Amino acid sequence: MPTTKDVRGECQQCGGQFDFAAEAAGLLADCPHCGQQTELLLATPPEEKSPAQTKAIIYTVVAVVILVGGLIGAIIALKRAQRIVGPAQTKATTPSSPKPADPFAAQNFRTGAVTLEKTPGSKLVYAQGSIVNTAKQQRFGVKVELDLFDDAGKWIANASDYTGVLEPGGEWKFHAPVVESKSASAKIAAIKETK
Ligand SMILES: [Zn+2]
Repeated sequence: MPTTKDVRGECQQCGGQFDFAAEAAGLLADCPHCGQQTELLLATPPEEKSPAQTKAIIYTVVAVVILVGGLIGAIIALKRAQRIVGPAQTKATTPSSPKPADPFAAQNFRTGAVTLEKTPGSKLVYAQGSIVNTAKQQRFGVKVELDLFDDAGKWIANASDYTGVLEPGGEWKFHAPVVESKSASAKIAAIKETK
């Protein structure tokens, strides 16, 4: 059995004070002063909050107000940030997807588009483009092999060009003679290092 603790109660009829066991709180009993039935309730004085308790409550209320205010501010700021970031993110992802990776990147070469250039005043045609050495070393005996296609996109011939040395970070503007006059477009088929 836990020890019963006596608390100070107050009669609801006459206001007289008396002690009763804490466990009996809320029950009905006869007042020792007026003899009338009263609910066993705590007397008002111990219920009154000390100035320290009042201060603590005020500080708690202030803290809650600050926290809630801060939280609302943070939510507003976050929503604003999302509004700013949101469309930018979708814009950023769209252009990167359609561009295919350079097929020669794994070989440490960066290639550009190949164009067919006619030499004015002659029948000679050259397939021209550029190859950049993205490696940190010199590249020796670099040979570019090109596929040539007609207007219908059908493969008709090969062409190639060669350079002895390609410096690190250097760009080689190749110039491959095209013998097949029906050639309409060209594409790099392979880049080989013969040394
Ligand atoms: Zn009473």
